[in-house]
Amino acid sequence: MLAPRFVVDTMLGRLARWLRAMGYDTLYPGQAEDRRLLQLARAEERILVTRDRMLARLGQPHSCLIRGERVDDQIVEAVEQLALAPDERDWLSRCLECNGTLERGAPESLPGHVPEHVLALHTEFTRCPGCARIYWAGSHADRMKERLSRLLGTGRSE
Ligand SMILES: [Zn+2]
Repeated sequence: MLAPRFVVDTMLGRLARWLRAMGYDTLYPGQAEDRRLLQLARAEERILVTRDRMLARLGQPHSCLIRGERVDDQIVEAVEQLALAPDERDWLSRCLECNGTLERGAPESLPGHVPEHVLALHTEFTRCPGCARIYWAGSHADRMKERLSRLLGTGRSE
């Protein structure tokens, strides 16, 4: 099955980042007009994720109306409504800022782009070919994964 792809409306920026964190191809066009969001959703076969009831209705059946205020609730809502099964292997495989697919970073390209103490402590880096941002497996990444595990009820050891 092909993984669903999303376009997220302006009120749900944090949710957009978490959809990317789960590995989903997620557009977040910022201050786009409703018409533009609907066009994007149709043209690219994306699910329109919105808090706007009217927009959700116009986007049916390829839309998802989010009601929660807190981002944790919104993540759970999206996963349940769309019956998503985020694969842990895809987590943190996308750039949170621009949606690019991360590539393994070549260590020789990193000095100057990554703080020295990070280079000294970590060996696994990924790089976004879109915006050149560099990510590494550290405590921040661990906390994100733990949060997803907790919200999605996966990765429990007992
Ligand atoms: Zn990027």
